[in-house]
Amino acid sequence: MTEEPDFQGRSGTGFTARTGCPASVYIHIPFCGAKCAYCDFFSLPVNNFSAGFIENFLESLFAELEVFLETWKPSACPTLYVGGGSPSVLPPRTLLRFLRKVRKPLPSQPEEFTLEANPESLTEEFLCLCREAGVSRLSLGLQTFNPRFLKLLGREAAPEDNHRALKLLDRHWTGERSFDLMYGFPGQKPEEAIEDAREALDHGAGHISAYSLTVEEGTPLFRTIQKGHLPPPNDDTAEDAHLLLSSFLTERGYANYEISNYALAGKECRHNTRYWKLHPYRGIGPAAVSTLPTATGPIRLSGKRSVSASCPPEPDIEIISPQDFLKDYILMGLRTQEGIDTKTFFRIFHLDFYETFSHAVQKNIRFMANNEHRSLYCALTPKGRRLLNPILIDFFEKIDRLAYRGPLDWPLATEQ
Ligand code: SF4
Repeated sequence: MTEEPDFQGRSGTGFTARTGCPASVYIHIPFCGAKCAYCDFFSLPVNNFSAGFIENFLESLFAELEVFLETWKPSACPTLYVGGGSPSVLPPRTLLRFLRKVRKPLPSQPEEFTLEANPESLTEEFLCLCREAGVSRLSLGLQTFNPRFLKLLGREAAPEDNHRALKLLDRHWTGERSFDLMYGFPGQKPEEAIEDAREALDHGAGHISAYSLTVEEGTPLFRTIQKGHLPPPNDDTAEDAHLLLSSFLTERGYANYEISNYALAGKECRHNTRYWKLHPYRGIGPAAVSTLPTATGPIRLSGKRSVSASCPPEPDIEIISPQDFLKDYILMGLRTQEGIDTKTFFRIFHLDFYETFSHAVQKNIRFMANNEHRSLYCALTPKGRRLLNPILIDFFEKIDRLAYRGPLDWPLATEQ
């Protein structure tokens, strides 16, 4: 008896890919100009690697993509996201060749193709090549324009790099643009967060991602704070900055459609929205995560935190139990302004949302955005979304009591 090929195209791991579902693709380019002081992502200084190594590494990413496409045979690729790291540190021609190459074998051309870039490596040539490669959306890591805070973050960019990059976009980029901002720096006045947002809006941001600075253990920033050379971020001031920033952006028409994300109508990030709806996606490259359907249920693949220029490294595999999938569904859904579509929820889990979670909903009713009895969407207010973790405890306690073992109709044919 021959075993069916499994998710890697080999036999023996015990999973059979469920073919024919649409799946988004994320590709992780783990190179940056230099490591930022707060960074906990898997990224390495690009100058530590030869041009030949990088070419071979990109080939290995492409090989990983090909194995996925051959094995899962997705019917469509609704969105493609190339992030990092900072893809813009690659030589522009190398990047263009790679982007063109990865688009070719996709079963459909993505409706949204996002590329991440950093201001200091943005050039006119880079923007021109992005257009040629079919990139529809650029996500620029500005973080702040304040020289003190850029220095504290150990960013390569100086304020003038951020200004120069925005001017280049204004002149040479007609696609969608999203800007990453940060707030909650030690010593930051809440109003200073608004100055950054104002500048970003002046340059046509359709989308803003705004994250509070978190100090991750093991980072240089963590050590600086531990040694007492810098005070830790103050949670109350960060919360004030968040509230100010949030009302500044919403008053200007940017919906706070996910905890940290704001967009003008129609400018929401479709790729991330698919993550939050738990649609299948494949993460290619080191440290990238995938959630994919198999004949026996969803699995999670986690790429190793290492780079190899020869063959695609084998990711770790984890079976996602129906109970964990249900928790993920609640967690992701409640992060968004839209919330959980209870009809879709029923079709996936065969559970009545309000009957199942009546206690958790009632207990947190003051944080529910829609108090209408059994409304179609269960969503939290902006404050509720900021207090998500304690609210989730109530939902998760119920899920634990249920000891949910299925059914799990995922992905739904009609959602594809
Ligand atoms: S640019 Fe981003 S990924 Fe690269 S080191 Fe800085 S924070 Fe990390």
